[in-house]
Amino acid sequence: MSVQFLESSRGKPLLLHDGSQFRQDRQKWRCLKTGCRSRAEIRDGVVTLCSDHDHAPDIVANAVRKNLNELHEAARGASDDSRTSNIVDKVVGLLTSEAVIGQLPNLRLLRKQVSYTRKKVNPNPTTVARTLKDIVITHAEKFTLKGELFLLHDSGPDDPCRIIVFATPANLMLLRECPE
Ligand SMILES: [Zn+2]
Repeated sequence: MSVQFLESSRGKPLLLHDGSQFRQDRQKWRCLKTGCRSRAEIRDGVVTLCSDHDHAPDIVANAVRKNLNELHEAARGASDDSRTSNIVDKVVGLLTSEAVIGQLPNLRLLRKQVSYTRKKVNPNPTTVARTLKDIVITHAEKFTLKGELFLLHDSGPDDPCRIIVFATPANLMLLRECPE
């Protein structure tokens, strides 16, 4: 069996062996369980336990870690316009084990972590305007590629029925000549 790794909340590798998680400790791997003195070694792709655990494997903790890893994977791959709460709901919504759900951080914290992961991967996401107020017209967008003024009118973000008119003076002349 290949060596299995998970990821810690700080993005560090965790070795998963025989139902226990280990963090890297110099050349060896140290069991994550507080007080347990078990160490493991990886040699030529094979994990060897150097000293035994003083506890049973924590299946729930492993499932929690795997689900958190999946959540952050989803966060990294999410498109700019997907909502953080939807990413969290999608992963958490698939969980059926109450024990696992019970050990997850609360939803507010999960969203915060997911949002942090997203910002780390993509510090400047393209913001999608969801309301008329959100629409920001940059200076460049007010002009055509030829440098003609393109934004004729904008009633402003404070107008609940905001009206934005884009047209060039030449287009308006054409409209004026049209009999209809
Ligand atoms: Zn242990």
